[in-house]
Amino acid sequence: MTLASVLNLHPDFSDPALHAEGHYIGGHWLPGGGIPVTDPSTGAVLAEVPDASVEVGLAAVEAAAAAAPGWRATPARQRSEILRRWFTLMTERAEDLAVLISLENGKALADARGEVAYAAEFFRWYAEEATRIPGEFRTAPSGANRILVDHEPIGVSLLITPWNFPAAMATRKIGPALAAGCTVILKPASETPLTAFAMARLGEEAGVPPGVVNVLTTRQPGPVVAAILADPRVRKLSFTGSTPVGRQLLAEAAKSVVSCSMELGGNAPFLVFDDADLSAALDGAMVAKMRNAGEACTAANRFYVQDGIHDAFVAGLTERMAALRVGAGTDPMTQCGPMITAKAVAKIEALVTDAVGRGARVRTGGAAMTGAGNFYPPTVLDNVPADAAMAREEIFGPVAAIYRFSEEAEAIRLANDTEYGLAAYVYTADLKRALRVGRSLESGMVALNRGLMSDPAAPFGGAKQSGLGREGGTTGILEFMEAKYYAVDF
Ligand code: NAD
Repeated sequence: MTLASVLNLHPDFSDPALHAEGHYIGGHWLPGGGIPVTDPSTGAVLAEVPDASVEVGLAAVEAAAAAAPGWRATPARQRSEILRRWFTLMTERAEDLAVLISLENGKALADARGEVAYAAEFFRWYAEEATRIPGEFRTAPSGANRILVDHEPIGVSLLITPWNFPAAMATRKIGPALAAGCTVILKPASETPLTAFAMARLGEEAGVPPGVVNVLTTRQPGPVVAAILADPRVRKLSFTGSTPVGRQLLAEAAKSVVSCSMELGGNAPFLVFDDADLSAALDGAMVAKMRNAGEACTAANRFYVQDGIHDAFVAGLTERMAALRVGAGTDPMTQCGPMITAKAVAKIEALVTDAVGRGARVRTGGAAMTGAGNFYPPTVLDNVPADAAMAREEIFGPVAAIYRFSEEAEAIRLANDTEYGLAAYVYTADLKRALRVGRSLESGMVALNRGLMSDPAAPFGGAKQSGLGREGGTTGILEFMEAKYYAVDF
């Protein structure tokens, strides 16, 4: 069954022009097959996309390198206007893109709509940033000469993205790369390539010149990516995905000293102090845990709740989680869609079984759902011991693990007891405490009395083994630029 025939059945999907299936290299669509894309709600095959060989990977480098001088020389205003048109097209076709994301990823339509809006904003933000690339002109401390710093596009960039945000993880990289003047090769996750190809179609329509954005899919990312990174024309790797794969890619990139930006895994603590507004903390907890059914790098993985508010928080979260409607992402009533694969469900099951075996109590959910599709129900566990595997590993699913604490110092110690350092959440009515705790948390981002932190205008990224570099904000564009210093005497 082809994507088009499936989508034709779907009343909300109106735009056949977005049904692209094929590598997009040098402005050409190269059809092929080899990688089935399935609907995680049913297991049905939605489409097949091509399986790139090393040769196809190198053809993409060739196309990106050929387009690089022209794109670099394109005035920033023009690059900006193309990105802005791409934003507008994404916004106009938002519903189609949301349905596509929901079909291949499984996330609830409301989450998919949120993702499209978030993803498009990276194009708008970087359309604005393209015309404000910073430089410096200073007097040397000796007073004898001048220091001039310019920023140049770093060069051909390889962008590798995960399946959990098929649109936003791509735009968060393409936006700054194109704004900086770089040409790119995007390798989306093979679970969710259809959104990436649909976005490339919109890019074409927006006026992105051939070769500036190239998209390929492969079942053998190891050798294809290694060959691309070994080509001396490739100067940047921007990766979003798991920490273990990130470590491998850092080692691969080291061979040709390629600049790396790494957005890796998380294990976010969510701290609730006695003085927190309970209802606000519960609202925030639901967003921080259940956006994308828990399949988010920023997802609250460990809830640390102080003694005085603990029981009310457990009761409130249990009530809200148990009330969520589980179903196919494209069903407008769904609040919690399926997991991406059966393997993901098995991992969640193993983590819950381990925690329960060590003394955790199941308040709601707690076992995979039977029948078709990769469904796991919203689950709340309390009394989770600190040595449970889910305290160390990303759950990446709709399971809220609650731990109790008494003292602020204890909460900080527990929160930091992880190799990860991406996101953290703090709920308290005391501003001084919020900032004090925020400073003590070893993470790249801290949400204070908020359940959502992602914002294209803010620097997104992690400390410790959650990554290197930042995406978004005013500094995100510099990840795709090389500073050039001119020593000036005048
Ligand atoms: P993953 O690491 O398995 O895959 C990510 C990408 O890398 C995919 O495109 C995949 O095909 C590719 N890949 C896998 N093995 C490779 C190899 N040997 N060589 C080259 N490429 C390879 O991650 P995933 O399961 O797709 O995504 C989930 C992970 O991503 C979670 O750990 C999550 O926390 C993380 N994530 C992080 C952020 C962030 O901004 N920090 C955002 C979203 C997801």
